[in-house]
Amino acid sequence: MNSIDKLAEIFSHFPGIGPRQAKRFVYYLLTRNSGAIDELIRNISELKNDMAVCSDCGRFYQRKNTATKVCDICSDENRDHSLLMIVPRDSDLESVEKHSDWEGTYFVLGGTIPILEKEPEKRIRIQELKAKMEKSKDKLKEIILAMNFNPEGENTTEYVKKVLENIIKDQNIKISTLGKGLSMGTELEYADTETMKNALKNRS
Ligand SMILES: [Zn+2]
Repeated sequence: MNSIDKLAEIFSHFPGIGPRQAKRFVYYLLTRNSGAIDELIRNISELKNDMAVCSDCGRFYQRKNTATKVCDICSDENRDHSLLMIVPRDSDLESVEKHSDWEGTYFVLGGTIPILEKEPEKRIRIQELKAKMEKSKDKLKEIILAMNFNPEGENTTEYVKKVLENIIKDQNIKISTLGKGLSMGTELEYADTETMKNALKNRS
């Protein structure tokens, strides 16, 4: 395998990128000067050093110092910690932050569960979610399952509801999903402000 194929192979594993696009990335890089390449390399190495996973919600956040373990949202006392929104990925959280006035907190599942998945517990951070909810005993009033409007999103919602059933009953937590005024196939990540606000307002 030559250098072009090696790098294209790496890019082809990026979300949404096929082998042909991966090759185009490599050829694009070949046209850049060495200064631009050095900057890219530096940015990639800094990414891992600067970012950390929040021990509370599981999102990636910019770490200010090594002593902090929770992100700016989880440590924000002005947010309503009795409200927890469960989202599939960091990009969905970002979209909700940008397009709504959500004042509660979040939990990032780290993925969704495909239909007929045999080991759903390996696909998402369900154990971490359970542990978080058990720990926050009686502090939570409502959890909102904010999944994409497609069969995989619905499948994930059903699975999470089932796993959390007893905790939700014990702690008397309200559980809701985003409003269904949205068309099938709508992805949270690409929802606009109007759609996002309505989906939140009409949650049930
Ligand atoms: Zn957090």
